[in-house]
Amino acid sequence: MWSSIILSLEGTDLERKTPLIPQEDLRRQAEISDYIKGWWQSQGRTPVAWVDTYGCQQNEADSEQIRGMLERCGYGFTDGPDEADLIVINTCAIRDHAVQRVFGNVGALVHTKRRHPGQKIFVCGCMMGNPEISGRMKNSYPHVDGIFSPHHLWQLPEHLYRVLIRHRKAFAVADSDGAIAEGLPVVRTNKIKAWVSIMYGCNNFCSYCIVPYVRGRERSRLPEDILDECRGLIAAGYREITLLGQNVNSYGKDLGLGVDFADLLAKIAELDGDFVLRFMTSHPRDASHKLFDVMASHEKIAKQFHLPFQSGSDRVLKAMNRHYNRAQYLELIEYGRKRMPELVFTSDVIVGFPGETEAEFEETVSLIEQVRYDALFTFIYSPRPGTPAAKLPDPTPKEEKNRRFDRLLAVQNAISEERHRAYVGKTLRVLVDGRDGELLTARTDGGRLVRLEGPDGLIGRFVNVTITGATTWSLVGRKEE
Ligand code: SAM
Ligand code: SF4
Repeated sequence: MWSSIILSLEGTDLERKTPLIPQEDLRRQAEISDYIKGWWQSQGRTPVAWVDTYGCQQNEADSEQIRGMLERCGYGFTDGPDEADLIVINTCAIRDHAVQRVFGNVGALVHTKRRHPGQKIFVCGCMMGNPEISGRMKNSYPHVDGIFSPHHLWQLPEHLYRVLIRHRKAFAVADSDGAIAEGLPVVRTNKIKAWVSIMYGCNNFCSYCIVPYVRGRERSRLPEDILDECRGLIAAGYREITLLGQNVNSYGKDLGLGVDFADLLAKIAELDGDFVLRFMTSHPRDASHKLFDVMASHEKIAKQFHLPFQSGSDRVLKAMNRHYNRAQYLELIEYGRKRMPELVFTSDVIVGFPGETEAEFEETVSLIEQVRYDALFTFIYSPRPGTPAAKLPDPTPKEEKNRRFDRLLAVQNAISEERHRAYVGKTLRVLVDGRDGELLTARTDGGRLVRLEGPDGLIGRFVNVTITGATTWSLVGRKEE
């Protein structure tokens, strides 16, 4: 599956080995898609599919490729299971709650399928990257027709052919090198904001996390392929591009081209056009001063930084295998703010990691109070079978973890509200991205949600807004003439 390609970057020709799916394999999938489309046409109707996505932006981006492949197979789309000829459930494995929800919802589809006997059901995504979970899905849910892991996503037309035309089951979860499929068709759900995956997988093996086991090792896309995709998006009128990866800061390490994430970001920001560039997620171990410097010197790079810290305690960070300590993390925040006083920080934190003491939890609270994030995603630790942390003794009762979670939330909510109140009276450039009921929705450069009055014609435009009100979660603004 390894193909050799020549990359031309800044005038240097470098021969690189990169894990790309060969074009002939992708062509074969395209031919199968055409066959399926013809098959549906011979039935005299246009089939519809429902793609249901759980979890993070990476899954959202994968679902856009799933829709792209299905569209090529002749499918239109619906937003629920009842009418669907095909259901694709794109799953998340990050916490047990998400896993149980998927099992419950897939179980309930047995009734939908009874009402619609020709309906086909596929389950894919991170849960299917775990052999125990995919095995349980296969053995206990006979109404599921197809199962494939993230490594086998690009072969969806083949899986569908097997199920639809050959009346067999499809089960594609074998471990693979997870090569990258360039040029898959995409149906984007949003006309203004686009996700662009720049890399797949993760090498960090944080001791609590299942991602490296279900998505495989880090694989970076080639800079030219990413730049081409971004150029195409800008030409198509997209106003916001978010670069995605589990740890974007280690982008390019596997390529050995001497192009790191900061270099890539700068190259994209230098493209012509009126757009804003975001990225997520950053790992503090690999976040460099150079990255902050690039952000500071490029106007098109949003002044927003999602930098998960997970815990404020050095002992817990070590047990989490995070490879940085509290002081190093705080130094990054300080440097970022020194370079860009307007920089908005957000973060992820885990409460109740095995063995976390009350004092260690208080260190997390104090870090939050010190940094004062605009927003924080707070999670209660969820043991993931097969990860090192799941084997650690965890004497803290559930009620105590809930108490810590509630306390953290209360501290952060007060901070978010204060920070949001500080925006009142300021005039900010925002991108209007949609409508929620009576009001338009928009995002500031720092990623804060603003609601404002205005016509639909403003959607997709950058406008200046004076902030007139604030809540814990969002801002209210008035458009300036
Ligand atoms: N790669 C990103 C990172 O390291 O920041 C994001 C990974 S994950 C999709 C998003 C967040 O889920 C993590 O930052 C972490 O806070 C949380 N998370 C991951 N595993 C977890 C677990 N077992 N229990 C609770 N939260 C978890
Ligand atoms: Fe999971 Fe850590 Fe990788 Fe993020 S960096 S995906 S938390 S292993």
